[in-house]
Amino acid sequence: MENWNAKTKLVHAGTKRSQYGELSEAIFLTQGFVYDSAEQAEARFVECGDDEYIYARYGNPTVAMFEERIAALEECEAGFATASGMAAVNGALMASLKAGDHVVSARALFGSCLYILEDILPRFGVEVTFVDGTDLDAWRAAYRPNTKVCFLEAISNPTLEVIDITGVSEIAHEFGARVIVDNVFATPIFQRSLALGADVVIYSTTKHIDGQGRCLGGVVLGDREFIRGPLEAFLKHTGAAMSPFNAWVMLKGLETLQLRCEEQARTCNTLVQALAGHDKLARVIYPFADDHAQQALAKKQMTAGGTVISLEIKGGQGAAFRFLNALQIVIISNNLGDAKSLVTHPATTTHQRLSPELRASLGITDGLVRVSIGLEDSADLAADIVQALEAI
Ligand SMILES: *Cc1c(COP(=O)(O)O)cnc(C)c1O
Repeated sequence: MENWNAKTKLVHAGTKRSQYGELSEAIFLTQGFVYDSAEQAEARFVECGDDEYIYARYGNPTVAMFEERIAALEECEAGFATASGMAAVNGALMASLKAGDHVVSARALFGSCLYILEDILPRFGVEVTFVDGTDLDAWRAAYRPNTKVCFLEAISNPTLEVIDITGVSEIAHEFGARVIVDNVFATPIFQRSLALGADVVIYSTTKHIDGQGRCLGGVVLGDREFIRGPLEAFLKHTGAAMSPFNAWVMLKGLETLQLRCEEQARTCNTLVQALAGHDKLARVIYPFADDHAQQALAKKQMTAGGTVISLEIKGGQGAAFRFLNALQIVIISNNLGDAKSLVTHPATTTHQRLSPELRASLGITDGLVRVSIGLEDSADLAADIVQALEAI
């Protein structure tokens, strides 16, 4: 299996068959497991083997198939699936930290990640320093002897800034800190953050891995020592396990993940070209676009620019709202990585809670809109976006 290419792993890795020899992965919708004897129960509680289970909060065969398949794709030793992406982020941080520790984090973060770092961790005696993630000198300057974790989103939402994972990891490892990367925007298809130097990678599987807007889920990936050690201990006792049904949806999502992400990225490239220089747009932001300040870094780290483009619309919030309201195919919603193209106005929704000053420093202007590109025909999407720009 190690020699398989990604597409083969996405279809076959981690498959477990019951005594019935079913072709499609089974949903083991069971909380508990039975034992042949009291001795067997005792032995399993002492040490649970790879294909042995005790209770679904600790592990379940369908969930294990999903964990093994995504770990195979990511080429890492182990994964633990969670009820949502945020359960994965919280678990990875909590399992790494204790009172008195220090975290360095990129400032441009998904709102709930920011809440954990800014509001929750300090209540438990963990200090957090926020830096401009694209500035390696700022990362270095922020480290302290008690820095245990460095946290970042590989591509920032919604301004699509690219962080140098290898650079940040080299600095963090000098200080003995664990690098935890939220890789959602980069996708597991286009960027292998562990290979670039990170220690732990997190996905909200709610996004591209489901890819059809059905279930919440998350996963933490890394080496066996961390995942099967402190991470699993924290997650299995605090109860954020992924449900077997959701794991089955995610397994099926993995089978088509590469095809979907590649098609979405192709459409992004088409749209970037179709929209370049449009007189209603101040900027089209996409990591692989020629005018992206970090295009070279993006091309070094990723095999494609991702599935999201951001548009800076001239004329502020009024113009951005008229654009959103005029779209006929692209739907107003805050999810991403979906088969349906979705548009968000971050300043009034996902990033509304931030102060105007912080929004400005992150580049989240009133004219900025984020478009998650789906699986519709690229010419139809280009026509829809252009007619909505004209309607402003
Ligand atoms: C959606 C998202 C999360 C949270 O995932 P949920 O599944 O909604 O809990 C975390 N980080 C990023 C970058 C996301 O896009």
